[in-house]
Amino acid sequence: MMHFESQYRSREVYELQNIKPALLDDIALVHSRSYIHGLEKAMPKAMDEGIIFIDGSGPTYATETTFEESLIAAGAGISLVDAVVEASMVNYNPPIGFALIRPPGHHAVPKGPMGFCVFGNIAVAARHAQRVHGLQRVLIIDFDVHHGNGTCDAFYDDPDIFFISTHQDGSYPGTGKMEQVGQGSGEGATLNLPLPGGSGDSSMRSVFDEVIVPCAQRFKPDIILVSAGYDAHALDPLAGLQFTTGTYYMLASNIKQLAKELCHGRCVFFLEGGYNLESLSNSVADTFRAFLGEPSLASQFDDPTMLYEEPLLRVQKAIQKVKHIHYL
Ligand SMILES: [Zn+2]
Repeated sequence: MMHFESQYRSREVYELQNIKPALLDDIALVHSRSYIHGLEKAMPKAMDEGIIFIDGSGPTYATETTFEESLIAAGAGISLVDAVVEASMVNYNPPIGFALIRPPGHHAVPKGPMGFCVFGNIAVAARHAQRVHGLQRVLIIDFDVHHGNGTCDAFYDDPDIFFISTHQDGSYPGTGKMEQVGQGSGEGATLNLPLPGGSGDSSMRSVFDEVIVPCAQRFKPDIILVSAGYDAHALDPLAGLQFTTGTYYMLASNIKQLAKELCHGRCVFFLEGGYNLESLSNSVADTFRAFLGEPSLASQFDDPTMLYEEPLLRVQKAIQKVKHIHYL
């Protein structure tokens, strides 16, 4: 087993120490103050009852430490953006950041929690990058199997934050149709690409080359942030796509390359979903290998005999349609 902790790889992997929790003002750039204060006030009840449900329509729960831990998760993303931006000023090939955080964030909507997510970690970091570092144009790539509806909502009318989400068609929470392209001056700066069930490695390679790359090149981001969910893996129990460890290696190395070409290598990944702990950890480890420029070990983990045929014709149709909608 290869270790990626900085104690084993001190010259290549840096672990940020003393992460500061996000300030309420940071969170308030994305979420309403009434939600933030309401959650804080619910903590004594969580302490009394052990666990409380905080999302009226879904499975999102809190314990007595949730408020504090959610501020730390968002704060970790902010600190990583700071570290990567700082490194990019002295190094044209800065390390990529990966916020290995819980709770995840991409379903949390401006007014509340949703789908295991409390605060929109990536959305908070995007606003921080703009406000503190003057990085005006932020590209967000969300390859979690579910639609990143919270991130989508937060920036729906914002032309400076381009949100691309690939997700399984018809999966939770049901949003993210191709026709949702943003509104007002943000029209065109949201790209939703629902993929048919069974889509896997070949599908995602085509999506990357034919949709994500031209979009990114046209948008010219100052930084790329990634909602890295690992629940599109073939072994994940929550959904029905067929990504493999190798798909995640491909995504990580291609996104790294894109960041190098377009924005001085500035790129931060945020952990979102992933519910099979084995495929999750193997895929995250292969993501790190891609960041470090080491060969993939996917062939040790991926068993091609468990995959079935991808619906490539339907994927190609979806790609052509989204390219048409976005004039790609
Ligand atoms: Zn997910």
